[in-house]
Amino acid sequence: MSDTSYGFIGLGNMGAPMCANLCAAGILPTVFDVAGSAQRAPGGAVVADSLADVAAQDTVFLSLPDGKVVAAVCADILAAPDRRVSTVVDFSTTGPAAAGEINAALAAGGITFVDAPVSGGRAGAIAGTVTVIASGPDDAVAALAEPFDAVSENIFHVGQTPGQGQVVKLLNNFLSATAMAATSEAVRFGLGHGVAMETILDVVNVSTGRNTASADKFPNWVATEIFNAGFAMALMTKDVALYFDEVRKAGAPDDIGAAMTTLWNAADTAMPGADFTEIYKYVGAKGDGA
Ligand code: NAD
Repeated sequence: MSDTSYGFIGLGNMGAPMCANLCAAGILPTVFDVAGSAQRAPGGAVVADSLADVAAQDTVFLSLPDGKVVAAVCADILAAPDRRVSTVVDFSTTGPAAAGEINAALAAGGITFVDAPVSGGRAGAIAGTVTVIASGPDDAVAALAEPFDAVSENIFHVGQTPGQGQVVKLLNNFLSATAMAATSEAVRFGLGHGVAMETILDVVNVSTGRNTASADKFPNWVATEIFNAGFAMALMTKDVALYFDEVRKAGAPDDIGAAMTTLWNAADTAMPGADFTEIYKYVGAKGDGA
């Protein structure tokens, strides 16, 4: 095992289980979360008194809500008095524009940035199966092999420029959000004609309409009425908005992006604090056509 020291900031739905997997592999990071580090720290982790304790480590992982928070935390790392950090690895979804700005700020302070958003939800973070979509220089990504292997079996290095990982992450979440919204509408249509949800899912899941919502989110979180996949609707709405913003800036096709942005924004406004699987309830508020 290398003698690199590690830090981890943000122990939420994704960060806490990913950090627990680092600890299980014998990598014991110094951890900090503004909502309470000690309560959220997995066994084996070193609880930081403040962010400055994390900035005294070599490589720091982040799992934070959005680009604004990541930029603010990186500014605090840069300003830390006994800073030792040489690499920051961001597991958050921030979008390519924010990743570019964060990369520039860190580079000015002599810190290498690896953009490494993840996909697979809290269940994947716990199981160690999340997809890690890294972008950054070859040597920096290669140096992360040990901790990356500890958090996931699905590691991809998609490009040399931080932000390229965000591009792939955003297009993935746009597809996931679209599948969740479209499946909600389709299931409502079937229910309205007297077909049971279980029957609809059984048919679709061995047919051409099968998707991540029909195969995973509906059986686990919607049909069970648990509605707690561990991914806030506000965060999915952020991802769809970031995707649409980038697509519009690029002048790329955006018809479905526009429809998804309108729908997810309206649902998030109507259902503050909801899990993203509750889009099914929002769609259902219009009735099922019965
Ligand atoms: P979360 O809200 O559960 O966790 C974020 C954590 O960051 C919280 O514990 C919060 O207290 C902490 N935090 C906020 N500001 C902080 C600060 N200034 N300093 C230290 N800690 C701070 O969110 P999450 O669901 O774990 O998502 C984290 C990131 O991963 C987001 O960017 C999200 O879009 C992305 N993501 C989430 C999922 C999912 O299924 N939940 C999947 C893939 C990617």
